[in-house]
Amino acid sequence: MTTTSVSAFEEIQAREARHVLQTYRRNPISFVRGQGVRLFDSDGREYFDLLSGIGVASLGHAHPGIARAIADQATQLLHTSNLFFHPLQGQVAERLAALSGLQRTFFCNSGAEAVEACLKFARRYWYTKGEPRAEFIALEESFHGRTFGALSVTSDEHYRAPFEPLLPGVKFVPVNDPAALLAAVSTKTGAIIVEPIQGEGGVRPLTPAFAAAITEACAKSGALLIADEVQGGLGRTGVPFHFATLGLKPHVVSLGKALGAGVPIGAALISEDVAKTISYGDHGSTYGGNLLACRAALTFLTELVEGGVMDNVTRVGKVFDERLHALAKKHPALIKEVRGLGLIWGLDLTRDAGPVVPAGLASGVIVNRTAETVVRLLPPLNITEAEANEAINRLDAALAAAGAAS
Ligand SMILES: *Cc1c(COP(=O)(O)O)cnc(C)c1O
Repeated sequence: MTTTSVSAFEEIQAREARHVLQTYRRNPISFVRGQGVRLFDSDGREYFDLLSGIGVASLGHAHPGIARAIADQATQLLHTSNLFFHPLQGQVAERLAALSGLQRTFFCNSGAEAVEACLKFARRYWYTKGEPRAEFIALEESFHGRTFGALSVTSDEHYRAPFEPLLPGVKFVPVNDPAALLAAVSTKTGAIIVEPIQGEGGVRPLTPAFAAAITEACAKSGALLIADEVQGGLGRTGVPFHFATLGLKPHVVSLGKALGAGVPIGAALISEDVAKTISYGDHGSTYGGNLLACRAALTFLTELVEGGVMDNVTRVGKVFDERLHALAKKHPALIKEVRGLGLIWGLDLTRDAGPVVPAGLASGVIVNRTAETVVRLLPPLNITEAEANEAINRLDAALAAAGAAS
């Protein structure tokens, strides 16, 4: 093959097609640069990024504070392993404890690993008590990750079927059905795992009545509560954690996505009660909480709290709230329901949301489809009101095009 006859982009595609495992159906775009909420592709086209790499680029692209911090860290020390101390893990854990009320952190590298850790810590808690409880209760429409444990508490048959048998003893109950949850829980339940606001499942916040039932179910059975805040936590709803808004008191919490603002890091937050039951050697990670990842997390958490980013989510969240509901009025044949809060939103359509994604790219806005009919928005947490308005104008055009085309 001669490379002079093909464009740079076609060359990228062809090389991947030969050598990268084909597990992702990618959009035909290659990004080369970003600046805040904007991304630029290999042809120099500009896009407003309302997805931020699935909630990961939490401070937008090329954030100067993150760039400075990780460049500086790279000149000092990146990694030493968990066989030694370094100054940053304790600082990140201290901040996470102040935000969550959970006193201890275990560091890992992704959301699925954080969920995996939470499931193991729940098992370990009951093992230590001399009363092993193997069962977990999870919700329908849940998504907790792709590793075996996390997949075992993820409801989607499409993800599960090729990999069975998964962990035994997992019961799924319908979302926001208090009676079903209370009927499912028993003294065999080790833990109930929930996303306080479901993300991949179509942006579904748990109702206050269901949250009350979760608290009641835990109280009557002794089951631990695991809150998966990988997508909805860390400022996404305008507060540190959505579990607090719902009045939930989890024993273990999983974090990922936004925490490293683009640098891979995950964390499990653990109450002192559960932490007491865990011993040296029970769990570990070679990379977990290395200096690079912790420096990024520390910079993110400082921006989130002292930099006013959480207040920004609340302020710009109102713009999304008003304008997305106005879009639903404008496109009534297409938009069935608008769900979300802060800077996590889903437009539930009357049909497959797939065509909105390429229509968005053509209009210069990045969104994605989840749960088949839902257009999901997870913009950077520091998006401005003006940027939000421009991005939503582009989304409006994309919805008009997708609606007209079908
Ligand atoms: C994305 C996600 C995960 C998995 O995180 P990875 O970093 O992809 O492993 C787990 N739980 C929730 C709620 C998520 O949204």
